[in-house]
Amino acid sequence: MTLKIEILSLTEDTVRFILEDVDVAFANAFRRTMIADVPCFTIDDLFVFDNSSVVADEFMAHRIGLIPLKTDLDSYVLPKNCECESELGCGLCRVVLTLDVETEDEIRTVTSGDLVSEDPKVIPVSPDIPITKLAPGQAVRLEAYARLGTGKTHAKWQPVSEAIYQHIGDIEIDGKTCTACAKCVEACPTKVLEIEGGKLRVADINACILCGDCVNACPVDPAALTQGMKDKTFLFTVESTGGLPPERIVIEAGRILTEKLTELAGKIERGETSEEIVEMDMGMQKARGLYSVGSADPDEEEEEPEE
Ligand SMILES: [Zn+2]
Repeated sequence: MTLKIEILSLTEDTVRFILEDVDVAFANAFRRTMIADVPCFTIDDLFVFDNSSVVADEFMAHRIGLIPLKTDLDSYVLPKNCECESELGCGLCRVVLTLDVETEDEIRTVTSGDLVSEDPKVIPVSPDIPITKLAPGQAVRLEAYARLGTGKTHAKWQPVSEAIYQHIGDIEIDGKTCTACAKCVEACPTKVLEIEGGKLRVADINACILCGDCVNACPVDPAALTQGMKDKTFLFTVESTGGLPPERIVIEAGRILTEKLTELAGKIERGETSEEIVEMDMGMQKARGLYSVGSADPDEEEEEPEE
């Protein structure tokens, strides 16, 4: 299957593109794959050696877990796919970051920029995210284990801060009855229409939000323009948290969705579909480490060891 994609704009963190010839179910599956199945790096376990700051260990663990990290998908594997099967991971499935800040007589804000990573390719997306504040004489020392994971387990592993699609408008202008009065041009909140050479024309159909204000503003009866929406065509906006380039998220989502569909087709052929539904139940993570930051495993609460 080949997807027809036309890129409208691409910046460091956002890509907007048009996806053609697909139905709404596929468009939504594609969107959900970007949110829940494309892996990215996030800190998952913390070992706190010293923390005399005002923020308790658990709160700090939660804050640190939500710091987006630059992700290197080509050099690392998901812990569940790693051969080491080690609780704390190996050089292929985790990156260790350390935080060691102490103050003498000043007040200091500890930020994500103070985290020192063993891999310069896996670092916080921004150095300015506050973690805690230290009063004179206070210190914080910890070791953080970052791992690849997916948004299905916890939202901290979502590589996107926004992944949406919308329908694209389709405006037809009746050149015979239109008087080019420009009432519709004024009424449109997103500047879709314009008058050029004394005639009304569509300037940017991708800006259309299907509000219908242009049709309502037309003084001609019946209105000289009609507004509908294009069939099987969607406008996607994907904004990365900064961990992965936005185009990489789209490409990975396409690859993962194709893999899943191939697997499903195989299961249908072999009559194994009921098994698939059981597997889809929940992507539970095994309990591990001291503070699993926002782990989805309810059993972990009971067997949590002392600090
Ligand atoms: Zn490993």
